[in-house]
Amino acid sequence: MSFFSQRVSRIQPSPTISITAKAKKLKQEGKKIIDFSAGEPDFDTPDNIKEAAIKAIQDGQTKYTPVNGTKELIEAIIKKFKRENDLVFESDEITVGCGGKQVIYNALVATIEKGDEIIIPAPFWVSYPDMALLVEGHPIVLDCTIENNFKINPQDLENKITNRTKWVILNSPSNPTGAFYSELELQNLAKILLKHPHVWVMCDDLYEHIIFDDLKFKNILQVDNKLKSRTFVVNGVSKAYAMTGWRLGYGAGPQELIKEISKIQSQSTTHTSSISQAAAIEALNNSDEFINKNKKIFQERRDLIFSKLKDCSSLQVFLPQGSFYVYVCCNELMGKKKDDGTEIKNDIDLSDYFLDEGVAVVPGEAFGCSNFFRISFATSNEDIIEGCDKIISVCKKLK
Ligand code: PLP
Repeated sequence: MSFFSQRVSRIQPSPTISITAKAKKLKQEGKKIIDFSAGEPDFDTPDNIKEAAIKAIQDGQTKYTPVNGTKELIEAIIKKFKRENDLVFESDEITVGCGGKQVIYNALVATIEKGDEIIIPAPFWVSYPDMALLVEGHPIVLDCTIENNFKINPQDLENKITNRTKWVILNSPSNPTGAFYSELELQNLAKILLKHPHVWVMCDDLYEHIIFDDLKFKNILQVDNKLKSRTFVVNGVSKAYAMTGWRLGYGAGPQELIKEISKIQSQSTTHTSSISQAAAIEALNNSDEFINKNKKIFQERRDLIFSKLKDCSSLQVFLPQGSFYVYVCCNELMGKKKDDGTEIKNDIDLSDYFLDEGVAVVPGEAFGCSNFFRISFATSNEDIIEGCDKIISVCKKLK
């Protein structure tokens, strides 16, 4: 009998984190790698945020804080929701954790019984299914096709709902596709959800501020407030303010859910760092300029990748409306052979081949949608040009 739990044997290490680590290792060994695998902005955290953190250290804000976050941070989060989303929350409806990741995980620990179902639209962020498995839940994958712009067909959603469904996860803009839901699309999903009052909605808004083409962000709660008693809105500072390493995410939802999450956190991590909390207040209150500047940079990079790859006949590129990822269909390359005669059987083989040739991408299988790969454009224009040229030339070599 294994010393280790059944629970942990059901899951895998995060594939995106391990590919980034592999690319880093190759770089350290002196190999030139263009890294298109990163899941974080390449910008540094802005100075005003760093200064707020330094001041917090100097002022002695170095002790335990309340489990759900300091009063000042909770106020800043409430103000953010009002200002940017026109959503009203009370302080007992807010939780703060070590990243959006922990906030989502806590919510699942708080609600999932063995065999409960969590509907996860695919392509999905890699951690949702594994988190569901860790808490002994049952991930129910809802395939979203490229023909439907990687978005949920409302009827397909309804077909997946059973009496064991606890959560539906919505992630717009999406990692890995950059798909973005319009107000009308969200209304159509809300109509289905309103018919099933036992189903809760986990609304992952981590990429809220990275959207293009002058789109205006709305989440499902903004579109239909009748879902408020069963929606958990998750957000964080990682992507919007280039603060991945600070580990701070937050969630807003019904007070009874927050109370249970708080219990779990009080017996596990207690809270995220007091210094990160001080930094997050500054980030939430004073970042408009930073956000607008980055949005423009990311949009230019998206357009650059699109213009480079659109002429590669063996690849089909899906134009993202948000996030910093491009999802690329490589169906036509399956079954082709490398110079040494080995066959490319799937997107994992293709990604390994790209890595051998000096470009790191993440295979689509990791996101529950095969014969695709994900390119992250959280990198410089020079790298984008060089990396895309490399991809095009190595694809051409496959026979
Ligand atoms: N949700 C999505 C869709 C993500 O892509 C990520 C990170 O990659 C997270 C949540 C979690 O981010 P963090 O834990 O850094 O806040």
